[in-house]
Amino acid sequence: MTDYVKIIVDIPLSHLDNSYDYRVPEKYKDIIKIGHAVKVRFGNRMVVGFVIGFSNTTDLDKDRVRDISSIITKEELFNEEMLELFKWMASYYKCLLVKVIKSAIPTGVITGKVKKKRVRFLSLNQNQEETDRIINELRKKAPKQKEILEFLLANDEYLSTSQLAERVSTSAGTVSRLIKKGYLKYEEKISRRRPYFKKSSPGSSKPELTKEQQEVIDKILVNIKGNKTDSYLLHGVTGSGKTEVYLRIIEEGLSRGKGAIVLVPEISLTPMMVRRFYQRFGDKIAVLHSNLSLGERYDEWRRLYYGEALIAIGARSAVFAPVKNCGLIIIDEEHETSYKQGENPYYHAREVALKRVKLSGGVVILGSATPSLESYYYAQEGKFKYLALTERINTEEMPPVSIIDMREELRNGNTSIFSTSLKKAINNSLLKKEQVLIFLNRRGYANFILCRECGHVIKCKNCDISLTYHESENSLRCHYCDFTSIVPRNCPACGSVFIKKFGIGTERIEEELKKEFTGAVIERMDVDTTTRKGSHYEILERIEKGETDILVGTQMIAKGHDYPNISVVGVITADNILNLPDFRSGERTFQLLTQVAGRTGRGSKNGEVIIQTYTPEHYSIIAASKHDYLQFYNQEINSRKKLFYPPFSQLVNIIIQGYQEQGVVKAAEQLNVFLKDYQQYIKEILGPSPAPINKLRNRYRWQIILKIQGWAKRNFILAETRSKFLPEQDKEIGFIIDVDPIKML
Ligand code: ADP
Ligand code: ZN
Ligand code: ZN
Repeated sequence: MTDYVKIIVDIPLSHLDNSYDYRVPEKYKDIIKIGHAVKVRFGNRMVVGFVIGFSNTTDLDKDRVRDISSIITKEELFNEEMLELFKWMASYYKCLLVKVIKSAIPTGVITGKVKKKRVRFLSLNQNQEETDRIINELRKKAPKQKEILEFLLANDEYLSTSQLAERVSTSAGTVSRLIKKGYLKYEEKISRRRPYFKKSSPGSSKPELTKEQQEVIDKILVNIKGNKTDSYLLHGVTGSGKTEVYLRIIEEGLSRGKGAIVLVPEISLTPMMVRRFYQRFGDKIAVLHSNLSLGERYDEWRRLYYGEALIAIGARSAVFAPVKNCGLIIIDEEHETSYKQGENPYYHAREVALKRVKLSGGVVILGSATPSLESYYYAQEGKFKYLALTERINTEEMPPVSIIDMREELRNGNTSIFSTSLKKAINNSLLKKEQVLIFLNRRGYANFILCRECGHVIKCKNCDISLTYHESENSLRCHYCDFTSIVPRNCPACGSVFIKKFGIGTERIEEELKKEFTGAVIERMDVDTTTRKGSHYEILERIEKGETDILVGTQMIAKGHDYPNISVVGVITADNILNLPDFRSGERTFQLLTQVAGRTGRGSKNGEVIIQTYTPEHYSIIAASKHDYLQFYNQEINSRKKLFYPPFSQLVNIIIQGYQEQGVVKAAEQLNVFLKDYQQYIKEILGPSPAPINKLRNRYRWQIILKIQGWAKRNFILAETRSKFLPEQDKEIGFIIDVDPIKML
């Protein structure tokens, strides 16, 4: 008998991060389960709450316990294993349980407010025998009507009048006549909204596996078949057939009744990727990502929940997908930073996946051509099993990479954005009717506007960040808070008219390319050109069809696409990321360059990669140019070791923020003093210091970074900070605890 339930209420305040007892009214006693969203009265308002436990007694005064008002959702939003996972996250990331729940479950599913969509469709109004008789009767008099009936006999589809007419190539009037005669009738059913992706019909053709692929698959299958829990790092160069490995393993899992989750970085969640999975698994896949409408998310979630779909493909939050009997989680491009959530809760999907599988059993596969330093290190330590695909399919060679020293170019009198070699390569490629990718990881036209008289840089009024010039709208925009302003004629500081645009973005490159290569069809792909739904896909489709000669873009073009006709990849400048104040900047540069370089040399064409840089001697750039992961890894791991950076320590970045700078500085210093008491557990305290972005959306930011050796120690220090330090603090000051931070900016 369930007399009481423990409810966590949806009020994100830390002193309410406990469960509260509520009484279960008689009518709900047999229905209510862990994971139900409910309405309850809290204080004097109605709030949403989540059932996280049962009890036959309560410590509260019996007369004061309130009843649950209603159960909102028919579905349980999480089961006990997922609840365990959520609790682990709250503890590991030091955040509120309710925040975790809300980031794991789509909003529409919680509120239940999204309406189910019903469709009306036409069906036969008599049994088959009778229909056959009518078909015979209509054969001469009304051949089109006959065809419609035949179509419905043969096809099990839900079509409206106009859809049916279209399928049989006739008019809606013909269909209506059949309705009038009573041969067809309308029926209604609940339809699931599906995200848009171009379907090609599921095909059965599968490539014959290479020896390497087969070996990798066999090793993983031992665990799938034996129901063992394990995790793998699949290190496969670009184009080595990792995706094919995923498809086969999933297939094997399915045949044993196991579902799967496939995580891909948001930017590579291209329709091409989805299409590949659809071809193999058809409607067994559900797609989850942030671009879906509320209704689509709701319906995809429910398709998984009810077992209509067994494979979830999605970005970060798909790690929480309600996949039935989930026995496999694949994380493609596991090194990607988009797996780490940039807001509370600051979780990393890789860590969550590993934990989920620990709790409920299964296999995790981390796939990458450029594994994160941490994952590679853990694979060497035996925490993950290491598997490698060392060759490209068809034993294609990796493309040759040349590094161009842009200082040299300048000395030789070339002031253009493009080096002589890059221009020559592009021209050659255009002559041969091949295609070119030009990469720059910065959108907009110019990075900043600087006064040449006083040196003033025009910055966002809310953030300590220079505004980016966007030519197409002739405006200045903040890429952090989206503040927009017109371009001033005079320097706001000194009034000088000598203000100039500095630095380059993709928009500028596009313009320069158009000037330089007249006649070539040039397109740009970045956040600014892909806001409209489907536009991302259309740009890629034009490349695929060969309609575009040169595609210029940001990270978006760096991954996931597989086009055989691309023969030149140009990187405008490799230094943008290298110069960021972040200990991972070398790693990022290596990863990005390797990914971009992997876009060519596919198919039978010989590709060529040209990297322009001002620091050609940097080991990240040299290793990337040789496609040599190990060379890069060995250098990088040594410097991490020397400086106690991960994987040799566990980091936490505590950001202190507020509207008054003085208060922020004071709080940061107090925290520093507090932490000093725990110094024996801490390897190093960096700061307090102004955060690299010192002001963001009008709030001043300071930070303290802790390097701690060991998870338990870190957990202890953070727990102490939360229970002893934070409650004493001024409510005007915000503290962000970013565990395992990935962006130090
Ligand atoms: P990765 O994910 O490692 O970049 P993919 O799985 O995308 O590599 O494979 C690269 C290309 O090779 C794809 O077009 C894929 O269809 C094809 N491919 C994969 N495995 C095989 C195989 N065993 N035989 C022939 N082609 C294959
Ligand atoms: Zn701003
Ligand atoms: Zn000035």
